[in-house]
Amino acid sequence: MRKSFHEIDFRPQHAHAVPDGESHGNPENPLLGQRMATSNVIGIIPGNDPDLSEEVIIISAHRDHLGQTPDDIHYPGANDDLSGLAATLELARMFMQHKGENKRTLMFVAYGAEEQHEMGSMYHVAHPLPDFPNENIVLMISIDMIGLGYDKWSSFTPAQLNRYASTWYEEVYNGVNDDSDDYSHEYPPEKSGTFSYDAGPFGKIGINNRVFGKAEGIPHYHKTTDSWENVHFGPAAIVTRTIFDFLWKVDQDPRTHAKP
Ligand SMILES: [Zn+2]
Repeated sequence: MRKSFHEIDFRPQHAHAVPDGESHGNPENPLLGQRMATSNVIGIIPGNDPDLSEEVIIISAHRDHLGQTPDDIHYPGANDDLSGLAATLELARMFMQHKGENKRTLMFVAYGAEEQHEMGSMYHVAHPLPDFPNENIVLMISIDMIGLGYDKWSSFTPAQLNRYASTWYEEVYNGVNDDSDDYSHEYPPEKSGTFSYDAGPFGKIGINNRVFGKAEGIPHYHKTTDSWENVHFGPAAIVTRTIFDFLWKVDQDPRTHAKP
């Protein structure tokens, strides 16, 4: 992760140390019952508009998966969530090509321990970086599993893609929760139960958020067959490009997004 950040001339600002935690949660998880340390890896592109640079947009994926069992069964996690991590790095690279133009501060995060009940993102919410308090976060997105379930996107016209980017932008700005969107969802504060995505802990405290990714009905989910051969790269690239267009609209909006 650090190496990839360096390759796009993007220096990680911070590595959040997440304290050792007892692995719990998913009964299929081969890490169950073990103690280990992990970290959130964070890179930042500072904002350039004096009135808006304090506002923060978080773009994230998770860097952990299920690991390896003692008898060497390996869970590669290509879709869950290397697909999101690849998109996050690509978005960092695209924004670096527009360095100096982004109005708001962009924070790219690779969260640890998402598969352990979102421990990395929970830690972030509980321990914000000193210069980036939670109240300054205007949007948090979690890209998690875009490698399958987006095949239709290959046939979308540019106008259809733009409609998605514009709709997401309008909804985020207006705080609208859209249950009819097949390709993304959000966590309103009143949502109960477990989170399942890193956006959850942010939504719980009222931060605008979006999840891009599909888990329900997706083959290879949490299986040893979640490998690169089973990821559909073409549609994932189109979704990533559309997420960039969406983020660009949010970033360039001259109005302050801070909630009244
Ligand atoms: Zn995931």
